[in-house]
Amino acid sequence: MQYSFFMPTRVIHGENSVLNNGEMLAKLGRKALIVTGRSSAKLSGALDDVVTALGQVNVEYEVFDQIENNPSLENVMAGGEAARRYRPDFIIAIGGGSPLDGAKAVAVLAVNAISATDLFTNSFSQPPLPIVAIPTTAGTGSEVTPYSILTDPENETKRSFTVPELFPTIAFLDYRYTLGLPEAITVDTAVDALSHLVEGYLSLRASDTSDMFAQEGIRVWAECIPALVNRQFSPEVRDRLLVASTLGGFTISHTGTTLVHALGYSLTYYHGVPHGRANGVLMGEYLRFTADSAPERVDSILRLLQMDSVDSFVGLMHELFGPAAVLSPEEIAHYSAKAMQTRNISFSRGNVSQEDLAQILARSCRR
Ligand code: NAP
Ligand code: FE
Repeated sequence: MQYSFFMPTRVIHGENSVLNNGEMLAKLGRKALIVTGRSSAKLSGALDDVVTALGQVNVEYEVFDQIENNPSLENVMAGGEAARRYRPDFIIAIGGGSPLDGAKAVAVLAVNAISATDLFTNSFSQPPLPIVAIPTTAGTGSEVTPYSILTDPENETKRSFTVPELFPTIAFLDYRYTLGLPEAITVDTAVDALSHLVEGYLSLRASDTSDMFAQEGIRVWAECIPALVNRQFSPEVRDRLLVASTLGGFTISHTGTTLVHALGYSLTYYHGVPHGRANGVLMGEYLRFTADSAPERVDSILRLLQMDSVDSFVGLMHELFGPAAVLSPEEIAHYSAKAMQTRNISFSRGNVSQEDLAQILARSCRR
């Protein structure tokens, strides 16, 4: 198999990494647009640290704090307009995956006066502005991926776009920004990270390099299982979850995600299930399905998680999330048909058919 591994993001890990590295921000220009959600950038303390760091190096800034959860095209268009008015040299994204992905779209729209749907066909001539990413959740890994995932109401789903320049230039990982995350969001986002690691490891695009990140990420994630079950998150666990999440980002930046994410988008779009939870609900049956075509890979995931069977995995997800949404036969047919049209399916093992997807959905969403 031939592959290349490209990871241009400089990752700076540790407490006070933003405050200690203002001069790196100054190298990106004199004007920054800070892109965030409504409250978490402020509550987490990350915005204060960024403002202090920018002040130390005399970088001017403006804040766009309107990115919604699962940002829509309309939402990122508003950010793009704010950026075209302010004309920043670079973008600083603070928040969960939603603000990080929203900021990536804004980085493109800042320099391309296009409609947001043109993002999905990469119909823009100017490369996005440089992006600095500061996660306040530990889940998406978006701080090290070239993906921006947006909600597309016309197609009633979430869609992504990607160009290599969307890799953030710098990612600052400081677990302190995740200390105030509510328990439920901590668990949801942690399971998103696991989903990236597992799907990446089981992807047909997996390589020696991505396997290394995926296996180590699953091992680190496994250390956090007791904390996730007991919902007690020490600073050490917060740091480990953030590291596992970034390792998941490295993994999927190379492999992409598979059928779990493709199916999960419908649970989020039509039923409002948080992104990570949607993946978690489906992952057990995905492991069972994939064990037919890649038994040794599924075994090594279970081994790294210190579990003896797929049933134990399903049990853990049930313990973390309780009963899943129950879907009607019509919903199952609709969502599996939609997922079948995504590129994710071609990266999934097992010659996936629509019937397979329907079965995974039906078995996952019946409790
Ligand atoms: P999110 O949608 O960014 O945030 C969920 C909620 O958590 C928001 O209400 C947010 O508040 C709050 N929050 C964030 N940080 C907080 C903190 N430190 N303290 C308290 N509350 C906090 O959640 P997410 O799971 O991180 O991101 C999900 C999005 O990422 C989805 O759109 C998904 O499709 C995408 N995703 C992207 C990639 C990628 O590679 N790009 C990979 C996987 C998933 P605010 O509204 O105030 O921000
Ligand atoms: Fe995800």
